[in-house]
Amino acid sequence: MSPSRPQAHPAPADSAASEFLPFALPDLGEEEAAAVLECLRSGWITTGAVSRRFEQEFADFLGGGVTAVAVNSATAGLHLALEALGIGPGDEVIVPTMTFTATAEVVRYLGADPVLVDVDDATLCIDAEAIAAAITPRTRAIVPVHYAGLACDMNAILALARRHGLRVVEDAAHAFPTLYRGRAVGTLDSDATVFSFYANKTITTGEGGMVVCRDPELLRRVRVMRLHGISEDAFDRYTSRRPAWFYQVVAPGYKYNLTDIAAAIGCQQLRKIGAFLARRQLLAARYAEGLAGLPLRLPPDAGAGGQHAWHLYPVRLTAAAPLERDRLIELLAERGVGTSVHYIPLHRQPYWRERYDLRAESFPRAEAAYRSLLTLPLYTRMRDADQARVIATLRELLC
Ligand SMILES: *Cc1c(COP(=O)(O)O)cnc(C)c1O
Repeated sequence: MSPSRPQAHPAPADSAASEFLPFALPDLGEEEAAAVLECLRSGWITTGAVSRRFEQEFADFLGGGVTAVAVNSATAGLHLALEALGIGPGDEVIVPTMTFTATAEVVRYLGADPVLVDVDDATLCIDAEAIAAAITPRTRAIVPVHYAGLACDMNAILALARRHGLRVVEDAAHAFPTLYRGRAVGTLDSDATVFSFYANKTITTGEGGMVVCRDPELLRRVRVMRLHGISEDAFDRYTSRRPAWFYQVVAPGYKYNLTDIAAAIGCQQLRKIGAFLARRQLLAARYAEGLAGLPLRLPPDAGAGGQHAWHLYPVRLTAAAPLERDRLIELLAERGVGTSVHYIPLHRQPYWRERYDLRAESFPRAEAAYRSLLTLPLYTRMRDADQARVIATLRELLC
Protein backbone atom coordinates (compact mmCIF):
# COMPACT_ATOMS: atom_id res chain seq x y z
CA MET A 1 0.00 0.00 0.00
CA SER A 2 1.30 3.46 -0.84
CA PRO A 3 1.97 5.55 2.28
CA SER A 4 0.17 8.51 0.70
CA ARG A 5 -3.14 6.61 0.52
CA PRO A 6 -5.66 8.65 2.53
CA GLN A 7 -7.20 6.77 5.44
CA ALA A 8 -10.50 8.65 5.56
CA HIS A 9 -12.50 5.84 3.93
CA PRO A 10 -11.36 2.51 5.35
CA ALA A 11 -11.76 0.02 2.53
CA PRO A 12 -12.67 -3.66 2.82
CA ALA A 13 -9.75 -6.07 2.66
CA ASP A 14 -10.54 -7.12 -0.91
CA SER A 15 -11.01 -3.56 -2.14
CA ALA A 16 -7.98 -3.66 -4.40
CA ALA A 17 -9.71 -6.44 -6.34
CA SER A 18 -13.20 -4.92 -6.55
CA GLU A 19 -12.89 -1.13 -6.82
CA PHE A 20 -13.06 0.60 -10.18
CA LEU A 21 -9.65 2.08 -10.84
CA PRO A 22 -9.84 5.46 -12.61
CA PHE A 23 -7.02 6.31 -15.02
CA ALA A 24 -6.15 9.45 -13.01
CA LEU A 25 -6.93 10.93 -9.58
CA PRO A 26 -5.75 14.11 -7.83
CA ASP A 27 -3.65 13.71 -4.68
CA LEU A 28 -4.90 16.28 -2.15
CA GLY A 29 -4.38 16.03 1.60
CA GLU A 30 -4.93 17.81 4.87
CA GLU A 31 -2.23 20.36 3.96
CA GLU A 32 -4.25 21.60 0.98
CA ALA A 33 -7.46 21.63 3.03
CA ALA A 34 -5.80 23.68 5.80
CA ALA A 35 -4.29 26.12 3.28
CA VAL A 36 -7.70 26.68 1.66
CA LEU A 37 -9.34 27.29 5.05
CA GLU A 38 -6.62 29.73 5.98
CA CYS A 39 -7.22 31.60 2.72
CA LEU A 40 -11.00 31.69 3.27
CA ARG A 41 -10.54 33.00 6.80
CA SER A 42 -8.05 35.67 5.66
CA GLY A 43 -10.81 37.57 3.87
CA TRP A 44 -8.79 37.73 0.62
CA ILE A 45 -9.88 35.01 -1.79
CA THR A 46 -9.14 36.33 -5.27
CA THR A 47 -5.72 37.12 -6.79
CA GLY A 48 -3.44 38.49 -4.07
CA ALA A 49 -0.52 37.61 -1.83
CA VAL A 50 -0.95 33.84 -2.07
CA SER A 51 -0.97 33.91 -5.88
CA ARG A 52 2.19 36.04 -5.74
CA ARG A 53 3.79 33.47 -3.46
CA PHE A 54 2.77 30.59 -5.72
CA GLU A 55 4.27 32.39 -8.73
CA GLN A 56 7.52 33.03 -6.87
CA GLU A 57 7.82 29.48 -5.54
CA PHE A 58 7.02 27.99 -8.95
CA ALA A 59 9.65 30.17 -10.66
CA ASP A 60 12.20 29.38 -7.93
CA PHE A 61 11.55 25.66 -8.37
CA LEU A 62 12.26 25.88 -12.11
CA GLY A 63 15.30 28.12 -11.68
CA GLY A 64 17.07 29.61 -14.70
CA GLY A 65 16.01 33.17 -13.91
CA VAL A 66 12.44 32.76 -15.16
CA THR A 67 9.34 34.64 -13.99
CA ALA A 68 5.96 32.93 -13.54
CA VAL A 69 2.51 34.46 -14.02
CA ALA A 70 -0.43 32.52 -12.57
CA VAL A 71 -3.57 32.12 -14.69
CA ASN A 72 -6.84 30.21 -14.33
CA SER A 73 -5.96 27.53 -16.93
CA ALA A 74 -3.24 26.50 -19.33
CA THR A 75 -5.67 27.31 -22.13
CA ALA A 76 -5.79 30.91 -20.86
CA GLY A 77 -1.99 30.90 -20.55
CA LEU A 78 -1.46 29.72 -24.13
CA HIS A 79 -3.92 32.35 -25.35
CA LEU A 80 -2.14 35.11 -23.40
CA ALA A 81 1.33 34.04 -24.54
CA LEU A 82 0.36 33.99 -28.23
CA GLU A 83 -1.51 37.29 -27.85
CA ALA A 84 1.52 38.89 -26.24
CA LEU A 85 3.63 37.70 -29.18
CA GLY A 86 1.27 39.55 -31.52
CA ILE A 87 -0.23 36.51 -33.26
CA GLY A 88 -3.30 37.60 -35.20
CA PRO A 89 -5.42 37.19 -38.35
CA GLY A 90 -3.50 35.87 -41.34
CA ASP A 91 -0.84 34.21 -39.19
CA GLU A 92 -0.15 30.48 -39.05
CA VAL A 93 0.90 28.62 -35.91
CA ILE A 94 2.25 25.07 -36.18
CA VAL A 95 0.88 22.58 -33.62
CA PRO A 96 0.98 18.77 -33.38
CA THR A 97 -2.16 16.84 -34.29
CA MET A 98 -1.61 14.53 -31.30
CA THR A 99 -2.78 16.93 -28.58
CA PHE A 100 -5.77 18.29 -26.73
CA THR A 101 -7.88 20.75 -28.69
CA ALA A 102 -6.85 23.62 -26.35
CA THR A 103 -3.41 23.77 -28.02
CA ALA A 104 -5.03 24.67 -31.35
CA GLU A 105 -8.19 26.50 -30.25
CA VAL A 106 -6.25 29.41 -28.73
CA VAL A 107 -4.79 30.12 -32.17
CA ARG A 108 -8.36 30.49 -33.48
CA TYR A 109 -9.25 32.83 -30.57
CA LEU A 110 -6.74 35.25 -32.12
CA GLY A 111 -8.12 34.84 -35.64
CA ALA A 112 -4.99 32.98 -36.75
CA ASP A 113 -4.81 29.47 -38.25
CA PRO A 114 -3.28 26.44 -36.56
CA VAL A 115 -1.40 24.22 -38.99
CA LEU A 116 -1.52 20.64 -37.75
CA VAL A 117 1.53 18.45 -38.32
CA ASP A 118 2.42 14.81 -37.70
CA VAL A 119 4.33 13.48 -34.69
CA ASP A 120 7.44 11.40 -34.13
CA ASP A 121 6.63 7.69 -34.18
CA ALA A 122 8.63 6.85 -31.04
CA THR A 123 7.71 9.73 -28.73
CA LEU A 124 4.43 11.00 -30.25
CA CYS A 125 5.85 14.51 -29.78
CA ILE A 126 5.74 16.97 -32.67
CA ASP A 127 8.17 15.99 -35.43
CA ALA A 128 10.81 18.57 -36.35
CA GLU A 129 10.91 17.50 -40.01
CA ALA A 130 7.13 17.80 -40.24
CA ILE A 131 7.43 21.31 -38.81
CA ALA A 132 10.06 22.25 -41.40
CA ALA A 133 7.82 20.97 -44.20
CA ALA A 134 4.84 22.99 -42.93
CA ILE A 135 6.56 26.41 -42.76
CA THR A 136 5.12 29.00 -45.16
CA PRO A 137 5.58 32.78 -45.46
CA ARG A 138 2.60 33.13 -43.06
CA THR A 139 4.10 30.97 -40.30
CA ARG A 140 4.71 32.95 -37.12
CA ALA A 141 5.04 30.43 -34.29
CA ILE A 142 5.38 26.81 -33.19
CA VAL A 143 3.61 25.29 -30.16
CA PRO A 144 5.34 22.02 -29.27
CA VAL A 145 3.55 19.72 -26.78
CA HIS A 146 5.71 17.64 -24.44
CA TYR A 147 3.54 14.57 -24.91
CA ALA A 148 2.88 12.48 -21.78
CA GLY A 149 5.62 14.38 -19.93
CA LEU A 150 8.58 13.69 -22.24
CA ALA A 151 10.30 16.73 -23.75
CA CYS A 152 10.13 17.32 -27.50
CA ASP A 153 13.30 17.54 -29.59
CA MET A 154 13.71 21.16 -28.49
CA ASN A 155 17.18 21.73 -29.94
CA ALA A 156 15.89 20.92 -33.43
CA ILE A 157 12.70 22.96 -32.90
CA LEU A 158 14.51 26.02 -31.52
CA ALA A 159 17.11 25.85 -34.34
CA LEU A 160 14.31 25.77 -36.92
CA ALA A 161 12.58 28.67 -35.20
CA ARG A 162 15.76 30.75 -35.20
CA ARG A 163 16.45 30.00 -38.85
CA HIS A 164 12.94 31.07 -39.91
CA GLY A 165 12.36 33.88 -37.39
CA LEU A 166 9.53 32.02 -35.63
CA ARG A 167 8.30 32.26 -32.04
CA VAL A 168 8.04 29.19 -29.80
CA VAL A 169 5.49 28.73 -27.02
CA GLU A 170 5.78 25.37 -25.25
CA ASP A 171 2.59 23.61 -24.22
CA ALA A 172 3.99 22.06 -21.04
CA ALA A 173 0.63 20.91 -19.66
CA HIS A 174 2.15 17.41 -19.23
CA ALA A 175 5.67 18.48 -18.42
CA PHE A 176 6.03 19.34 -14.77
CA PRO A 177 8.71 18.54 -13.81
CA THR A 178 10.41 17.52 -17.08
CA LEU A 179 14.09 17.89 -17.84
CA TYR A 180 15.55 18.28 -21.32
CA ARG A 181 19.32 17.79 -21.59
CA GLY A 182 19.73 18.67 -17.93
CA ARG A 183 17.50 21.77 -18.03
CA ALA A 184 13.98 22.12 -16.70
CA VAL A 185 11.22 22.59 -19.25
CA GLY A 186 10.19 26.18 -18.55
CA THR A 187 13.81 27.40 -18.59
CA LEU A 188 14.69 26.53 -22.21
CA ASP A 189 15.22 29.16 -24.90
CA SER A 190 11.64 29.40 -26.16
CA ASP A 191 9.57 32.59 -25.86
CA ALA A 192 7.23 31.23 -23.19
CA THR A 193 6.19 27.96 -21.54
CA VAL A 194 2.72 27.20 -20.23
CA PHE A 195 1.90 24.68 -17.48
CA SER A 196 -1.50 23.28 -16.44
CA PHE A 197 -2.86 22.57 -12.98
CA TYR A 198 -6.03 20.87 -14.20
CA ALA A 199 -7.35 18.09 -11.93
CA ASN A 200 -5.50 15.22 -13.64
CA LYS A 201 -2.13 16.93 -14.09
CA THR A 202 1.00 16.21 -12.02
CA ILE A 203 0.14 19.02 -9.60
CA THR A 204 -3.33 20.54 -9.47
CA THR A 205 -5.22 23.57 -8.22
CA GLY A 206 -8.55 22.24 -9.56
CA GLU A 207 -8.26 24.60 -12.50
CA GLY A 208 -5.17 26.69 -13.05
CA GLY A 209 -2.07 27.32 -15.09
CA MET A 210 1.23 29.18 -15.21
CA VAL A 211 2.91 31.20 -17.94
CA VAL A 212 6.68 31.15 -17.54
CA CYS A 213 9.11 33.35 -19.43
CA ARG A 214 12.09 35.70 -19.16
CA ASP A 215 11.14 38.53 -21.52
CA PRO A 216 9.96 41.54 -19.42
CA GLU A 217 7.89 42.99 -22.28
CA LEU A 218 6.07 39.72 -22.81
CA LEU A 219 5.50 39.30 -19.07
CA ARG A 220 4.06 42.78 -18.80
CA ARG A 221 1.62 42.19 -21.64
CA VAL A 222 0.56 38.81 -20.19
CA ARG A 223 -0.06 40.41 -16.77
CA VAL A 224 -2.09 43.28 -18.24
CA MET A 225 -4.21 41.04 -20.48
CA ARG A 226 -4.73 38.50 -17.70
CA LEU A 227 -6.92 41.01 -15.88
CA HIS A 228 -9.13 43.09 -18.20
CA GLY A 229 -6.28 45.06 -19.76
CA ILE A 230 -5.91 47.06 -16.56
CA SER A 231 -2.43 48.54 -16.27
CA GLU A 232 -1.99 47.52 -12.63
CA ASP A 233 -3.63 44.50 -11.03
CA ALA A 234 -6.06 44.55 -8.11
CA PHE A 235 -3.38 43.52 -5.69
CA ASP A 236 -1.33 46.60 -6.50
CA ARG A 237 -4.43 48.74 -6.45
CA TYR A 238 -5.19 47.73 -2.90
CA THR A 239 -1.66 47.90 -1.57
CA SER A 240 -0.04 50.75 -3.46
CA ARG A 241 -0.10 54.28 -2.08
CA ARG A 242 -2.14 55.52 -5.03
CA PRO A 243 -5.85 56.12 -4.35
CA ALA A 244 -7.46 52.66 -4.30
CA TRP A 245 -10.11 53.57 -6.84
CA PHE A 246 -7.68 54.57 -9.62
CA TYR A 247 -6.96 52.25 -12.52
CA GLN A 248 -6.36 52.55 -16.23
CA VAL A 249 -7.66 50.30 -18.99
CA VAL A 250 -5.10 50.07 -21.78
CA ALA A 251 -6.58 47.15 -23.80
CA PRO A 252 -9.69 44.94 -23.97
CA GLY A 253 -8.19 42.22 -21.78
CA TYR A 254 -9.44 38.92 -20.45
CA LYS A 255 -10.51 37.50 -17.06
CA TYR A 256 -7.78 34.90 -16.65
CA ASN A 257 -6.42 35.51 -13.13
CA LEU A 258 -5.94 32.68 -10.60
CA THR A 259 -7.72 32.92 -7.25
CA ASP A 260 -5.78 32.83 -3.99
CA ILE A 261 -7.94 29.84 -3.00
CA ALA A 262 -6.52 27.89 -5.93
CA ALA A 263 -3.00 29.26 -5.40
CA ALA A 264 -3.12 28.10 -1.77
CA ILE A 265 -3.65 24.55 -3.05
CA GLY A 266 -0.86 25.06 -5.58
CA CYS A 267 1.71 26.08 -2.95
CA GLN A 268 1.03 22.85 -1.03
CA GLN A 269 1.11 20.70 -4.16
CA LEU A 270 4.45 22.22 -5.12
CA ARG A 271 5.96 21.07 -1.81
CA LYS A 272 4.99 17.50 -2.63
CA ILE A 273 6.29 17.44 -6.20
CA GLY A 274 9.46 15.51 -5.30
CA ALA A 275 7.45 12.71 -3.68
CA PHE A 276 4.87 12.79 -6.49
CA LEU A 277 7.55 12.45 -9.17
CA ALA A 278 9.30 9.62 -7.31
CA ARG A 279 6.01 7.71 -7.09
CA ARG A 280 5.23 8.25 -10.79
CA GLN A 281 8.75 7.12 -11.76
CA LEU A 282 8.37 3.98 -9.65
CA LEU A 283 4.97 3.15 -11.16
CA ALA A 284 6.32 3.71 -14.69
CA ALA A 285 9.30 1.44 -14.00
CA ARG A 286 6.98 -1.27 -12.65
CA TYR A 287 4.78 -1.06 -15.74
CA ALA A 288 7.88 -1.44 -17.93
CA GLU A 289 8.84 -4.55 -15.98
CA GLY A 290 5.35 -6.03 -15.55
CA LEU A 291 4.22 -5.51 -19.15
CA ALA A 292 7.43 -6.78 -20.78
CA GLY A 293 6.79 -9.54 -23.28
CA LEU A 294 3.17 -8.55 -23.97
CA PRO A 295 2.15 -7.37 -27.48
CA LEU A 296 2.43 -3.77 -26.30
CA ARG A 297 4.70 -0.95 -27.34
CA LEU A 298 5.63 0.86 -24.12
CA PRO A 299 6.39 4.60 -23.91
CA PRO A 300 10.07 5.56 -24.29
CA ASP A 301 11.97 6.80 -21.25
CA ALA A 302 13.86 10.11 -21.33
CA GLY A 303 17.37 9.91 -22.76
CA ALA A 304 20.61 11.13 -21.16
CA GLY A 305 20.10 14.37 -19.21
CA GLY A 306 16.34 14.00 -19.57
CA GLN A 307 13.58 13.41 -17.06
CA HIS A 308 10.11 12.17 -17.94
CA ALA A 309 7.35 13.68 -15.76
CA TRP A 310 5.20 10.55 -16.34
CA HIS A 311 1.97 12.55 -16.45
CA LEU A 312 0.59 9.77 -18.69
CA TYR A 313 1.47 6.15 -19.40
CA PRO A 314 0.30 5.61 -23.00
CA VAL A 315 0.84 2.18 -24.57
CA ARG A 316 0.22 0.91 -28.11
CA LEU A 317 -1.04 -2.54 -29.08
CA THR A 318 1.28 -4.21 -31.58
CA ALA A 319 0.18 -6.21 -34.64
CA ALA A 320 0.63 -9.40 -32.58
CA ALA A 321 -2.12 -8.42 -30.10
CA PRO A 322 -5.10 -10.84 -30.08
CA LEU A 323 -7.67 -8.01 -29.98
CA GLU A 324 -8.25 -4.43 -31.08
CA ARG A 325 -7.83 -1.32 -28.97
CA ASP A 326 -11.56 -0.53 -28.57
CA ARG A 327 -12.30 -4.09 -27.42
CA LEU A 328 -9.39 -4.04 -24.98
CA ILE A 329 -10.70 -0.80 -23.42
CA GLU A 330 -14.15 -2.43 -23.04
CA LEU A 331 -12.78 -5.59 -21.42
CA LEU A 332 -10.55 -3.59 -19.08
CA ALA A 333 -13.54 -1.47 -18.00
CA GLU A 334 -15.58 -4.64 -17.35
CA ARG A 335 -12.77 -5.76 -15.07
CA GLY A 336 -12.71 -2.43 -13.23
CA VAL A 337 -9.71 -0.82 -14.95
CA GLY A 338 -10.27 2.69 -16.27
CA THR A 339 -8.26 3.85 -19.27
CA SER A 340 -8.34 6.75 -21.69
CA VAL A 341 -6.98 7.65 -25.13
CA HIS A 342 -4.50 10.51 -25.52
CA TYR A 343 -5.44 11.63 -28.05
CA ILE A 344 -8.03 11.37 -30.74
CA PRO A 345 -5.81 13.36 -33.15
CA LEU A 346 -7.15 16.82 -33.89
CA HIS A 347 -7.32 16.11 -37.64
CA ARG A 348 -10.07 13.57 -36.80
CA GLN A 349 -12.21 16.09 -34.90
CA PRO A 350 -15.10 17.47 -36.97
CA TYR A 351 -14.32 21.15 -36.43
CA TRP A 352 -10.65 20.91 -37.37
CA ARG A 353 -11.15 18.38 -40.17
CA GLU A 354 -13.86 20.44 -41.84
CA ARG A 355 -12.40 23.91 -41.22
CA TYR A 356 -9.08 22.98 -42.80
CA ASP A 357 -10.18 20.10 -45.09
CA LEU A 358 -7.77 17.72 -43.35
CA ARG A 359 -7.10 14.15 -44.47
CA ALA A 360 -5.87 11.22 -42.42
CA GLU A 361 -3.21 10.41 -45.07
CA SER A 362 -1.38 13.62 -44.14
CA PHE A 363 -0.71 12.28 -40.62
CA PRO A 364 0.37 8.64 -41.08
CA ARG A 365 2.26 8.29 -37.78
CA ALA A 366 -0.44 9.89 -35.61
CA GLU A 367 -3.06 7.78 -37.45
CA ALA A 368 -1.21 4.52 -36.86
CA ALA A 369 -0.60 5.42 -33.21
CA TYR A 370 -4.21 6.47 -32.62
CA ARG A 371 -5.62 3.14 -33.77
CA SER A 372 -3.60 1.18 -31.19
CA LEU A 373 -3.26 3.72 -28.37
CA LEU A 374 -4.57 3.66 -24.81
CA THR A 375 -3.51 5.31 -21.55
CA LEU A 376 -3.14 3.11 -18.47
CA PRO A 377 -3.92 4.31 -14.92
CA LEU A 378 -0.98 6.18 -13.39
CA TYR A 379 -1.37 8.44 -10.38
CA THR A 380 0.37 8.89 -7.06
CA ARG A 381 -2.49 7.51 -4.96
CA MET A 382 -2.48 4.28 -6.94
CA ARG A 383 -1.52 1.46 -4.57
CA ASP A 384 0.99 -1.23 -5.48
CA ALA A 385 -1.91 -3.73 -5.44
CA ASP A 386 -3.90 -1.51 -7.84
CA GLN A 387 -1.07 -1.53 -10.33
CA ALA A 388 -0.50 -5.26 -9.91
CA ARG A 389 -4.17 -5.73 -10.82
CA VAL A 390 -3.81 -3.61 -13.98
CA ILE A 391 -0.77 -5.64 -15.02
CA ALA A 392 -2.42 -9.00 -14.23
CA THR A 393 -5.58 -8.02 -16.14
CA LEU A 394 -3.53 -6.99 -19.20
CA ARG A 395 -1.57 -10.27 -19.03
CA GLU A 396 -4.84 -12.19 -18.89
CA LEU A 397 -6.35 -10.32 -21.86
CA LEU A 398 -3.27 -10.15 -24.08
CA CYS A 399 -1.54 -13.51 -23.61
C1 LIG B 1 -4.67 19.75 -20.04
C2 LIG B 1 -4.08 20.26 -21.32
C3 LIG B 1 -4.27 21.57 -21.76
C4 LIG B 1 -5.24 22.52 -21.13
O1 LIG B 1 -4.99 22.72 -19.81
P1 LIG B 1 -6.11 23.52 -18.96
O2 LIG B 1 -5.37 23.94 -17.73
O3 LIG B 1 -7.20 22.53 -18.68
O4 LIG B 1 -6.58 24.65 -19.76
C5 LIG B 1 -3.59 22.00 -22.89
N1 LIG B 1 -2.78 21.18 -23.57
C6 LIG B 1 -2.60 19.90 -23.20
C7 LIG B 1 -1.66 19.06 -24.01
C8 LIG B 1 -3.24 19.39 -22.08
O5 LIG B 1 -3.08 18.12 -21.73
